[in-house]
Amino acid sequence: MHDLTGKVALVTGAASGIGQAIAAAYAAAGARVVVADIARDKAVAAAAAMAPGAIGIGMDVTDEAQVDDGFARVSREMGPVDILVSNAGVQIIAPLAELSFADWKRMLAVHLDGAFLTTRAAMRQMVEAGRGGSILLMGSAHSHVASPLKAPYVTAKHGLLGLARTIAKEGAAHGIRANVICPGFVRTPLVEKQIPEQAKARGIDEAAVIRDVMLRDTVDGEFTTLEDIAATAVFLAGFGSNALTGQSLLVSHGWHMQ
Ligand code: NAD
Repeated sequence: MHDLTGKVALVTGAASGIGQAIAAAYAAAGARVVVADIARDKAVAAAAAMAPGAIGIGMDVTDEAQVDDGFARVSREMGPVDILVSNAGVQIIAPLAELSFADWKRMLAVHLDGAFLTTRAAMRQMVEAGRGGSILLMGSAHSHVASPLKAPYVTAKHGLLGLARTIAKEGAAHGIRANVICPGFVRTPLVEKQIPEQAKARGIDEAAVIRDVMLRDTVDGEFTTLEDIAATAVFLAGFGSNALTGQSLLVSHGWHMQ
């Protein structure tokens, strides 16, 4: 189940944080890995450091042509994609009444348009190749719970549940499975940036943001780790039947239980 030898795995947002950890874990499990990121140079460098044969490509997941061109290149150079992790993401902290329409649209574009465009490109290759596949969407505990100051993020992460369930229904006949990974807080650049932002917006200090906001509802006051999420992504990618599809898996130290 944890052997991905010969599989072609494309991970978006993989030049940093969770995506990079997943791509590295896939390479260690034998997959041929594509590190896709809007930050092209960082993607190329991350791939070079990861494993022989890994490639880094520039891809803005909100840009239809960049997504389709990137997948076409992967198909030419490595063969059709077997595993997609739609992981690229950003965070904007703002109260609803102060959120600009541009920021709202940007957030939905990265998280939802990006998931759609990469899923569509991956499914086309998976269906044509006829050997099934695994699509993982990077949700969040915020796919199931809401927090103040994160309206577009919470909205988009909830939306990914609907997309995954639809992929599961349409993909089943082709052996394509889809699941959502829902991490709790992981200390990546995305989270480090929002600690001072949340402190300012809430009028509390940074230690209180960590203790009373981010980790308050966990069972043990612990951050989730990159290793926790990478292990989950390897497990889900390697699970070989439709028994596990259309699901969301919370990996959050019990922040939310379903
Ligand atoms: P990160 O900032 O470390 O990495 C995000 C990566 O996405 C960056 O390399 C960035 O360049 C890339 N990216 C941003 N916009 C892009 C675009 N339009 N096209 C392609 N790439 C783009 O963040 P992270 O914490 O590793 O987050 C990864 C995913 O995990 C996100 O979807 C995030 O919402 C989700 N998530 C993170 C946490 C957490 O606590 N860190 C918790 C739950 C879910």
